[in-house]
Amino acid sequence: MKKLLILTLVAVLFLSACVKDASENDGNKGTLYYTIDVPTEAPTEAPADSTAVPTDSITETEPAPTETETVPPETTESTAPETEPVPVKVDGITLSIYEFWLNVGESHMPIVTMTPEDAPDKGEKWESSDKTVATVDKYGNITGVKGGDCTVTVTSTDNPDVYAEVKVHVKPEETEPESVTTVPAESEPAEKGEVTEPTYIGGILVVNKTYALPADYNPGVDPAAQDALYQMFADAAKEGISLWVKSGVRTYADQKWQYNVYVERDGKALADTYSARPGHSEHQSGLGFDLNSLSTSFGETAEGKWLAANCHKYGFIIRYPAGKENITGYMYEPWHVRYVGMDHAPVIHEKGLCLEEYLGITSQYND
Ligand SMILES: [Zn+2]
Repeated sequence: MKKLLILTLVAVLFLSACVKDASENDGNKGTLYYTIDVPTEAPTEAPADSTAVPTDSITETEPAPTETETVPPETTESTAPETEPVPVKVDGITLSIYEFWLNVGESHMPIVTMTPEDAPDKGEKWESSDKTVATVDKYGNITGVKGGDCTVTVTSTDNPDVYAEVKVHVKPEETEPESVTTVPAESEPAEKGEVTEPTYIGGILVVNKTYALPADYNPGVDPAAQDALYQMFADAAKEGISLWVKSGVRTYADQKWQYNVYVERDGKALADTYSARPGHSEHQSGLGFDLNSLSTSFGETAEGKWLAANCHKYGFIIRYPAGKENITGYMYEPWHVRYVGMDHAPVIHEKGLCLEEYLGITSQYND
């Protein structure tokens, strides 16, 4: 019995010694199951990692925002179907004209097209860069104030990033006398003696009652004019408008014969209102053409109206417009077009001028 007691005591002492060792080694209040405790070491290390490696947590936080980012799109997507009609904003503006000339007191309103077509707010805000040169009202009506240049801007009220600009040139009021000063120098051939050279004013060959062509001037149809004419015919045809040349080039001799026929029939005074004297006909220049029908009523036909509205786009003008008879020296001829080129025709059309007004010249016979 005593032996058993001693053995038990020894055994207990031994066990307690073991426990003490284990706790001292690890600093843990471990138990005999210390070894089984290993899993707890991992958790202990894991938290240490997460704090000890902040970079990791940054990388970890970055994906997080991405996740948050992916969330909002989803929200937007889910709201999109409801809001979709609202975001249709104006994204473009085009104008019917980007540069034009005005006289003082004269007005012009460019036509504005905003895209997309279904943008609900197509409000326009107009501004002039120099109100002392040209003013603009809220509808886009631009009015010349004094000679000079300025830029008029139209901005979408819906989307202020979208705008278009038009250059405005206002002709100084004394421009006409100015352009006339170029005339005397070049116009001297308009004397009674024989004309030896064609007259160019502002780069435009001028043939009227003041300015004659030499009798031997016979260049034939101007190639640029002919190309433009055929392009115009082709484009007109696409719109169901049929145009053709009734009378093109006429030589000095042709004109002389024709004019004399008219003088014999109607007398010189009347013939001078509708037929040019030899050397004074644009048909001799190769730049003037009579289209379709030599009748005033041509101006009222679909063809005549199309021609008046569109010929400037091809470099032509209606040479003898209605209401300008006293300036051109000829009756209204809705069928007679004159090629002046793209530098001039759109401007002349825009301003509603005849060639004499545009160049500041006269059209009168010397006798
Ligand atoms: Zn003609």
